[in-house]
Amino acid sequence: MNLYKIKKSNIDKKGLVASKNIKSGTRIIEYIGKLITKKETDENPKFDNEKDIYLFNLNNRYDLDGDYNWNTARLINHSCNPNCEVEGKGLKLWITAIKNIEKGEELSYDYGFSYSKEDLNNFICKCGAKNCCGYIVREESRWRISKKFKKTPRINK
Ligand SMILES: [Zn+2]
Repeated sequence: MNLYKIKKSNIDKKGLVASKNIKSGTRIIEYIGKLITKKETDENPKFDNEKDIYLFNLNNRYDLDGDYNWNTARLINHSCNPNCEVEGKGLKLWITAIKNIEKGEELSYDYGFSYSKEDLNNFICKCGAKNCCGYIVREESRWRISKKFKKTPRINK
């Protein structure tokens, strides 16, 4: 039985929700797509956008293009407080729980977009998390948007 269901989402039109309680560390769904070489990525204008949502870097040689309807995992939305992450294993990608997830909760992961002032407004985040920075930007870069997200520096002895 699948651990997820396709549902209308509060974040975007559609999303995936947990169909039962899921323990942290569980692989929920494989992120499938077509294996393409870096060369193909470089040459295909489809990937001109730096923030290609469905393109994953697998290793030095290959990327995975998940921009296909049969890749159900592509429906998973970004959240500033995600409950999943993308786990790479060889040439496979899994959406893995990083928290205990309750049945009915929407699945999400950090899309990991780099910060760019110019196109920030094309990537508005509506995840609704308490710590939402308002934009789809990876956690490490959110301090650029608001000082509120700045990590407190660690004092080295
Ligand atoms: Zn957010």
